[in-house]
Amino acid sequence: MNTSLPELEAHRLKSLPKAEVHLHLEGCFEAATIAQWAKTEGLALPRPQEDLFKFSGLADFLGFLDLACGLACTTERLVALSYGLCQRLADNGTGYADVIFNPTHWHAWHGRLGAMLDAMDAGFKAAEQDGLPRVGVCVSLLRTQSADAAIELVDALRALRHPRVVALSVDGNEAIAGRTGPRFAEAFRRAGDAGLRRTVHAGESSGPEGVWDAVNVLGADRIDHGVRAIEDAALVRMLVDRQIPLGICPTSNLVLGVYPSILDHPIERLRSAGVRVSVNTDDPALLGASLIGEYALCRRTFGWTDAMTKSVARTSIDASFASSDVKAQLLAALKDW
Ligand SMILES: [Zn+2]
Repeated sequence: MNTSLPELEAHRLKSLPKAEVHLHLEGCFEAATIAQWAKTEGLALPRPQEDLFKFSGLADFLGFLDLACGLACTTERLVALSYGLCQRLADNGTGYADVIFNPTHWHAWHGRLGAMLDAMDAGFKAAEQDGLPRVGVCVSLLRTQSADAAIELVDALRALRHPRVVALSVDGNEAIAGRTGPRFAEAFRRAGDAGLRRTVHAGESSGPEGVWDAVNVLGADRIDHGVRAIEDAALVRMLVDRQIPLGICPTSNLVLGVYPSILDHPIERLRSAGVRVSVNTDDPALLGASLIGEYALCRRTFGWTDAMTKSVARTSIDASFASSDVKAQLLAALKDW
């Protein structure tokens, strides 16, 4: 997306102090890295490296996820993946990110959550020491999991109290899973009691009812996507009244067919109704998206002025689960943009 962006605009948007709050570790594999790991393991790629992220459908995508997460089976590789994610943030001038990771995808690490978090943490720490952006981890449940499996994960997090973990998340396909808010209520309650923040994928593969459940049943501090809230005026009013932020990913919604074109995308209608919105990349490597590109797309399509752009960036920082120090630094820098 950056390739079509005028250099001046790219430079200016890179300099915009901002955070990213909806970004999956599983969406940050680089094709070259996967190819190298596969070669070392003597595994064949499903197609040539340059076409690796051209998915033919959901099954193909899930097959890739299995392959990629399976290859990231050693501490060394997970450290490299985590470090690379921070490099990607720096390339976009992102000052901080909440990174979602879903243990169910990482078969090689099953039963070793602490070791997996330590490996990611080592990559993030090394990045910070090299002056790259800071990261908090949101550990995610999968919508198709059972209530017991969800509670088991949350109890493991409560026992670990890993300093890198800032939140509990839930992702996955609600169109397949159906209404699962009540199933995860106890897990989210326990996470909240343990001092974890709560972020919930809803209002993308579910309609407004998924967003209502995220807030009323799961106690969400933030909604990932949430765009289909636009279909329910009472829900939009509630999001405004309670100032619950949405972590919106325009390109992801277009690629996955939630909206046919950016002109149909509701981010500007939500923003102008007073909903707190931020822009994010979701799975940037797999979607060919960049955070600078997402801001540029919204500015170009919806005529966002610098003041509007700044206000969205401010929301991204406020809505993040960064420490108060990191937030204060970013907000001070944003004032001068
Ligand atoms: Zn997502």
